[in-house]
Amino acid sequence: MDYRELGRTGLYVSEIGSGCEGMVGKDEAFVRAYVDALEEGGVNCIDLYAPNPDFRSYLGKALEGRREKFILQAHLCSVWKDGQYKRSRNMDEVRAGFEDELRRLGCDTLEIGMIHYVDSLADWDEIAGGDVLKYAESLKKQGIIRAVGLSSHNPEAALAAVRSGAVDVLMFSVNPCYDLQPGNENIELLWADESYEKPLLNMDPERQELYETCQEKRVGITVMKAFGGGDLLDASLSPAGVALSPYQCIRYALDRPAVASVLAGAHTLEELKKSIGYASASEEEKDYAEAFAAMPKISWKGHCMYCGHCAPCPKGIDVAAVTKFLNLAEAKSSVPETVREHYAVLPHKAGECIACGACEKRCPFEVPAVENMRRAAELFRS
Ligand code: SF4
Ligand code: SF4
Repeated sequence: MDYRELGRTGLYVSEIGSGCEGMVGKDEAFVRAYVDALEEGGVNCIDLYAPNPDFRSYLGKALEGRREKFILQAHLCSVWKDGQYKRSRNMDEVRAGFEDELRRLGCDTLEIGMIHYVDSLADWDEIAGGDVLKYAESLKKQGIIRAVGLSSHNPEAALAAVRSGAVDVLMFSVNPCYDLQPGNENIELLWADESYEKPLLNMDPERQELYETCQEKRVGITVMKAFGGGDLLDASLSPAGVALSPYQCIRYALDRPAVASVLAGAHTLEELKKSIGYASASEEEKDYAEAFAAMPKISWKGHCMYCGHCAPCPKGIDVAAVTKFLNLAEAKSSVPETVREHYAVLPHKAGECIACGACEKRCPFEVPAVENMRRAAELFRS
């Protein structure tokens, strides 16, 4: 398993993380077996959006004696009310819900306190000027949580939160179909037939800006919905019209700027082990480039996906990484220091490009890679 720095938190999370829906509604023995499989596979990041009391208690027991091996992403506004899940901004409920979580998990501290499910700008504005954010910040100040997070499906709301500097971690829905669509408060529209009637071209600019702003501000992204709720794995359900493999979806999400961990949704131990298998899968199994290039009505022509399909370069240049840094730098009026630092540690720089064109021939998206190398060499002066 590989691990990535989660933005500015100082935490290192496994590239494959875990959602919790697979443990909810199961008995104590199953939750223990699930946590055993996570530990065995080196998965250290678990999202805890579900407030179900039994689940929290069983997980607390399963973590006894190994709590320090896991990074827990708790959700502050996900509460249990009248025997069911409820999203709440009522501070009495929010406080009681979080205290219940700590008690049932048997923890004094949690790594991430996520402000749960902020899918509209109006909701974020209310949170930013109100008690929910103050509560999250006070938990961080007291050391009860290490990082403040926010979960969202809407790039507009997420971008405002990231720009505010108040959130350290973003949990966001990332998959190739959502990424083509403009944000909407109604997430059902992201999957609706009418949204795919016309050909879709390239990444939605606001989503691209969100990923790039996260990278610039060192806000780590943990990914939900990487498989589109499973639909992307089935040609008859996928809006893209072709079936992708779980590894292709995971790799696509991991290639977006600032993404640190993909929280795989698994309902059985077999599904979980399959996702963990990503860590030892071959490059061919993870490669999504040709499958994406063949999607009907969806095109990324000319847009670098950071997929690495164009490797190897005879001069050893990592074309995907150079292009990612180029795009991050060109989105700003001057090159951000963090981008310059990342570029500086690349073993081979764009200036070494001999314009042989081999990368362009292998790129399924017709990206002008030689021109990109020329611009990067000029911008980074190496
Ligand atoms: S240039 Fe093409 S093949 Fe290379 S990383 Fe970009 S999209 Fe992928
Ligand atoms: S064109 Fe430049 S970057 Fe592309 S393979 Fe040739 S040397 Fe490498």
